[in-house]
Amino acid sequence: MERYICLGCGQGFPWPAQYRDPQTGEAHLTSPCCRTAFREADRCQNCGRLIPREEGRLCPRCRKDAVDRFRQLLDRFTPAEREAINNAYDGVPLTKPERAA
Ligand SMILES: [Zn+2]
Ligand SMILES: [Zn+2]
Repeated sequence: MERYICLGCGQGFPWPAQYRDPQTGEAHLTSPCCRTAFREADRCQNCGRLIPREEGRLCPRCRKDAVDRFRQLLDRFTPAEREAINNAYDGVPLTKPERAA
C-alpha cells in the first residue's frame, strides 16, 4: 500500500525511512528512494496516478486536461454568451451547477 509519495521522483512507498544526519546526529524521516521530502499520497480520481494528497483529487495532467476541455467548450460561445454565463455562475461553485440561474 503506497501511503506516501516521494517529492523527488514521484514514487510511492508504504513507510518513510529514517535518516540520521552524520553531521548533527539528528534523525529525519525521508523517502526511502531519494532520501528527500515526501507527502501523504492519494490516487488521481481520473487516471489512478499517485499524487500528493494536498494537490486535490486530480493529478496535474488530468487537471490540465479538464481545464483545456473547458476552454475548448467556451470557444463555442460568443463573447456575449460567455458574459451571460459568467454572470449566471458568478460566485456559484461549479460543483453545484444546478443552482445557477
Ligand atoms: Zn524518490
Ligand atoms: Zn490523473
